[in-house]
Amino acid sequence: MKPAPFTYHAPADLDQTLALLAEYGPVAKVLAGGQSLVPVLNMRLANPAHLIDINNVPGLDAVVTDDDTVRVGALVRHAHLLSHSAARTAQPLLRQALQWVAHPVIRNRGTTLGSIVHADPSGEMPAVLALTDGRVRLRSAGGAREVPAAEFFVGPMESAIADDELAVEAVFGRFPAGTRTGFTETARRHGDYALAGVALAVGLDDGPDGGTMTSARASFVSVTDVPDVLDLTPVVGGAAVADLADLADAVSEAVATHVDPVGDIHASADYRRHLAVVQTQRLLSTLVGATAEEEIA
Ligand SMILES: Cc1cc2nc3c(=O)[nH]c(=O)nc-3n(C[C@H](O)[C@H](O)[C@H](O)COP(=O)(O)OP(=O)(O)OC[C@H]3O[C@@H](n4cnc5c(N)ncnc54)[C@H](O)[C@@H]3O)c2cc1C
Repeated sequence: MKPAPFTYHAPADLDQTLALLAEYGPVAKVLAGGQSLVPVLNMRLANPAHLIDINNVPGLDAVVTDDDTVRVGALVRHAHLLSHSAARTAQPLLRQALQWVAHPVIRNRGTTLGSIVHADPSGEMPAVLALTDGRVRLRSAGGAREVPAAEFFVGPMESAIADDELAVEAVFGRFPAGTRTGFTETARRHGDYALAGVALAVGLDDGPDGGTMTSARASFVSVTDVPDVLDLTPVVGGAAVADLADLADAVSEAVATHVDPVGDIHASADYRRHLAVVQTQRLLSTLVGATAEEEIA
């Protein structure tokens, strides 16, 4: 199918973009990478009267790292962030998760912030934003605001962005030294959306017999409506790494209770829940068993 007719706008700067959103917001869509929007238009699941293409807007393509955050502009493609060495060092979870996002062709065009605004529960990057206690910077003709991930994702495919707002930056948090991170998922074919997936961050204190777990937090893909964070610290915090196997049942129960999958033609709800439990157990074991220098894919 082809999209319903729309008026195409290609603003040359941020002010023009915000003016267009102020005028047409409720009947407009922002076009970033188009990797989610264009299929939706083609299937006529959305019929905006105006399309506001931000690809000519300068100043939206930067990746900036500082002591606490990695800031990713609205025109940063997944592929650019994936290969960005400073971002990878500052927040390894970005690279660990991005390599699971679709295929290279889609990553070359699709933007990381577009994926966050799209708020698909099957998307990897919303889960990463949530786990890093990140936030989204929004601009409108009327001003600017920042929305923490915990408030940004309000439902499946639904974010807190208003009709007249442009998301200008995703702000990912960094973890304290001693935190190990990892991401894994299961898909029917490599590059497909995940049947289930998990992002994990584990805090470790060095010590005899592998040390002690100080914290553990997880967020999930395709098994929760929104990527909220499961804090496993009450379950594993303070336990010796050597005792992790003894905590397996408690970890399983915490994950199985937290996730709320739905079944579809690809997998039943029970199977998705099972995957989330097994993925979390395995990733946790891998992370606490790895040396600090080891890369966890
Ligand atoms: C075959 C295929 C497989 C895919 N597999 C995966 C996958 O496994 N995992 C995954 O996470 N994604 C997957 N994707 C989606 C891909 O990651 C998209 O690039 C991403 O979801 C959306 O980014 P985009 O820049 O393409 O946004 P667009 O498609 O341009 O926009 C998506 C939505 O966000 C809005 N939007 C975008 N940017 C802004 C902004 N700055 N401010 C306000 N609103 C904005 C748009 O108006 C639209 O509603 C897949 C896509 C395809 C086609």
